[in-house]
Amino acid sequence: MSDIGFAFEIDGRTIDPSNIEDPVEAEIIHNIVESIVSQVGDLVCQEHKKAARFVCTGDSLDSLTLEIEGCCDVMIDKVKAQMTLQ
Ligand SMILES: [Zn+2]
Repeated sequence: MSDIGFAFEIDGRTIDPSNIEDPVEAEIIHNIVESIVSQVGDLVCQEHKKAARFVCTGDSLDSLTLEIEGCCDVMIDKVKAQMTLQ
């Protein structure tokens, strides 16, 4: 189990990834979460022992911007580096 965190905000709505009513929306968000977890789900900051948090915001599901939040710049750089590799 990963400690990785997610937040989705689409068109001003805050979406809880574990409680989405629209099945299409649920699948898209589920795929995003799966993809991120498969890439960096095992990454934990060695200094702070914390996993990263991913914030997806946009006007619609087609135009989401992914932002990475972490306990420190070292961790954020680590996550970014590992995500670019794949
Ligand atoms: Zn850290």
